[in-house]
Amino acid sequence: MNNKLTIDLLSHLPITRPLLNDQERVFLAVLKGQVKSRSEATKSLSIRSTTISDYVAELLAMRLLTEVPSERAGRGRPSLILGVNANRLVTIVFQVISQSVHVFMVNLSAEIIAHEKIEAAPDSDNAVLESIFLRLYQAIIVKQPAEAGLAGIVFSLGGVFDRITWRWIHSSRWPGMNNLDIRSIFPGEEHAISMSRTLDNELLIHLLQQDESTLLLHWGYGVGFAFGHSGDRIVEGGYAFGEIGHWHIAGEAARCHCGQTGCLETVTALWSIGRQILGDEFQAGDDEEHIARLLEERDLSDNPVVQKAVAQITTAASNVCRVFFPKKLIISGPFVKNAGIWRAFCDGFSQQNSFFGQTIQALSVSQVSRDLGVYGAALPVLEQGLAKLLQER
Ligand SMILES: [Zn+2]
Repeated sequence: MNNKLTIDLLSHLPITRPLLNDQERVFLAVLKGQVKSRSEATKSLSIRSTTISDYVAELLAMRLLTEVPSERAGRGRPSLILGVNANRLVTIVFQVISQSVHVFMVNLSAEIIAHEKIEAAPDSDNAVLESIFLRLYQAIIVKQPAEAGLAGIVFSLGGVFDRITWRWIHSSRWPGMNNLDIRSIFPGEEHAISMSRTLDNELLIHLLQQDESTLLLHWGYGVGFAFGHSGDRIVEGGYAFGEIGHWHIAGEAARCHCGQTGCLETVTALWSIGRQILGDEFQAGDDEEHIARLLEERDLSDNPVVQKAVAQITTAASNVCRVFFPKKLIISGPFVKNAGIWRAFCDGFSQQNSFFGQTIQALSVSQVSRDLGVYGAALPVLEQGLAKLLQER
């Protein structure tokens, strides 16, 4: 990830809670690169120099900060430069990307310091996925730096899952997987394990860039949305919150993998219409970013399957906007990367958008890559880990 973006993300910390105290202000100021020495901290944070010295001494003892002489040449004592020991705290993020399970280790500076992946065949069942998760965990945990504490393990998942029972109920990538108990994969694991929606993590990145009430609609293998209006106010809802792909469409009767018939996904999702649109170039399980490139190149304006899908997605988006009335609507996924599809969506949406003369002003295509969502998953956990570390002192 490029430096500018890392700094942009870090500049929003803390995102899920208020600042703890002045000591945390000192640490975050160094982390964000705003402060490079004790005297700069005294000036820019308006904290007495003796207090700064106490805080820095504690942060050094906790190994969160480092302090080394500057390399400045010349006479006199070199000044001491404060830095962050970014590997003092790490988190592990599991994320599904196309047909593979990936695992990342992310440190306090939002850097990925380790990454592993294993492909899982479409017919993988609970036992296969369980063993893949375990193998990935074993492969990444040995890369944990010696000085690092583990803030927690996050499963950034798509599909349907229940945070309360720790069950991953369904994923369209692996229909043979059912009700996988995530926590039981790691018996005796002392670290906090949490589950978060990949779409929520992508939304968090958007909210960090601009904190406005935002509805993020994903239109790809599945259809779902996330809604929120700042880091700690992403709506969680129940176990299948946002899964509008399974709304019933009047007059449709095709069978859906959820067990119902006539779901929105049966006429709009990649799993159902991908082959009709792309023919043999479509491989189920293909990466959405690859599909986006295939779709981008084609003129699909006369394709009746596409026309029907656009019409249904437009109506679905308009209806969800009637629930949340967001300031911004962002669409992610491969379909809207096609200029013609995007234009048709915008035209349809602008017709349906007006409500008592009010409209949603901002409509855009998501530019947040799925990999960036890894940071959206990691940041809240790192932040909680940091708070715990600072409170334990
Ligand atoms: Zn369905």
